[in-house]
Amino acid sequence: MKIPLSRIDTIPRETRFAETVDIVREEASVAVRFPSPVQVDVTYYRSGREIFFHGRLKGEAEAECSRCLEDCGFVVEKSFDFVLTPDPLPTNKNMELTADEMGLSFYTGEDIDLSPFVREQTLLALPLRPLCSENCRGLCPDCGAELNRTTCGCTSPGDPRMAVFRNLRLDRS
Ligand SMILES: [Zn+2]
Ligand SMILES: [Zn+2]
Repeated sequence: MKIPLSRIDTIPRETRFAETVDIVREEASVAVRFPSPVQVDVTYYRSGREIFFHGRLKGEAEAECSRCLEDCGFVVEKSFDFVLTPDPLPTNKNMELTADEMGLSFYTGEDIDLSPFVREQTLLALPLRPLCSENCRGLCPDCGAELNRTTCGCTSPGDPRMAVFRNLRLDRS
């Protein structure tokens, strides 16, 4: 989604659009898919040279449940705010660095491409560990049986509050 700078005024405008998002979150080795586009509602306006955005996104995602490894669907929703300032002179490297350290985002050219921001905000909205359900019982750590569908003879039921330890998959890398 691109918004021409000429459309951005001191009077706030509201727009709604759908953005196709592809996300593979490497660090958690969980691939999250968005079978349909993410819906974005955003209000924007200019104040001086800065452009302010305020909005909300909502999408339906699919991922592997981190306990039972079944594919599951869940809703991703988030509100967001950000401010864009004009790109500093490209020749001035020092200035760029400083602005980067301050966490500022820039705009250049004739229009503003919101797609990278939508992707970034969608990434921030993803659950750390997707679950098919809060009560997902996961896999038996001993025999691998899918405990949502079956029971196995390996482990005594034990204290349900300890289930989180039984289902924990530690990353030892
Ligand atoms: Zn599950
Ligand atoms: Zn078992």
